[in-house]
Amino acid sequence: DTNTRKTPLMLLIAAPRGFCAGVDRAIRIVELAIERYGAPVYVRHEIVHNRYVVDALKEKGAIFVETLDDVPDGVPVVFSAHGVPKAVPAKAEERGLDFLDATCPLVSKVHRQAERLVKNGQHILFVGHRGHPEVIGTFGQVPEGSMTLIETVEDAQSVSPPDHGDLGFLTQTTLSVDDTRQIIDVLRERFPSINAPRSEDICYATSNRQDAVKAIAASCDAVFVIGAPNSSNSLRLVEVAERQGTSAQLIQRATDIDFDWLDGVATLGITAGASAPEILVREVVDRLSERFDVSEREVKTTEEKMLFKLPRGLEAA
Ligand code: SF4
Repeated sequence: DTNTRKTPLMLLIAAPRGFCAGVDRAIRIVELAIERYGAPVYVRHEIVHNRYVVDALKEKGAIFVETLDDVPDGVPVVFSAHGVPKAVPAKAEERGLDFLDATCPLVSKVHRQAERLVKNGQHILFVGHRGHPEVIGTFGQVPEGSMTLIETVEDAQSVSPPDHGDLGFLTQTTLSVDDTRQIIDVLRERFPSINAPRSEDICYATSNRQDAVKAIAASCDAVFVIGAPNSSNSLRLVEVAERQGTSAQLIQRATDIDFDWLDGVATLGITAGASAPEILVREVVDRLSERFDVSEREVKTTEEKMLFKLPRGLEAA
């Protein structure tokens, strides 16, 4: 119909975006577990924080529960990518359950560091978000009282760690790179001899996705971040875009698009959190194309080649 010419809309699509190597691996582990054991396979906590992914795995025979108590005897259970407190595999072992650990290797790396620091008599200041499963998992690697949570710059300014022994800090993998730098600056200033992790705990995927959205946000009138409200790294992408002075919205999928919000937007940025599959990005672009005369440009800030090995035994499945 020539009378209804669509408004042009330029899409700047950030890259890297979406799935990281840890999420990819975690989903593969559930799929392979179902192939090997047959359905149902239990999964403790959302394998990754994305409804679409969880629903797709439910279709294949995964059952998601919040605690091990909800897993019946004699069935296999997978632990989510966010990691679990030590007590969880210990209890699974006690019950004789077959379990597969889909904890991201980069989270496990932080776990091992926490253990080592505490073993060496250090107290840990842990930068992270209260209640996030990764934080619960990491705190569960060490005895209670050996780690203190730091959520904000104010926490860093007021924390009074025990004055015996050394001090070290570690961080959650999915934090804001900029906020964490500020927090760590305060810690270093207050505690000049504080021990830093061997390498940055914020993972490559988190920092690459933040860099990528930062690169497009200033040229956009608005930004969509595709991800879940409980996905830490997705929420951080919204903040990064907003700090460039651009309004940003978190949407889970195409049905969440608020077309009124796009009124007057000529250039729209799109990115996706580490747990959001590319199919949801395409779905959003397709939906936008129904209303607008869309042109797309991908803006790539770096190439990612990370790939994690599957747990031993599963590769051969
Ligand atoms: Fe691993 Fe980072 Fe992906 Fe989390 S966001 S699963 S730490 S690679």
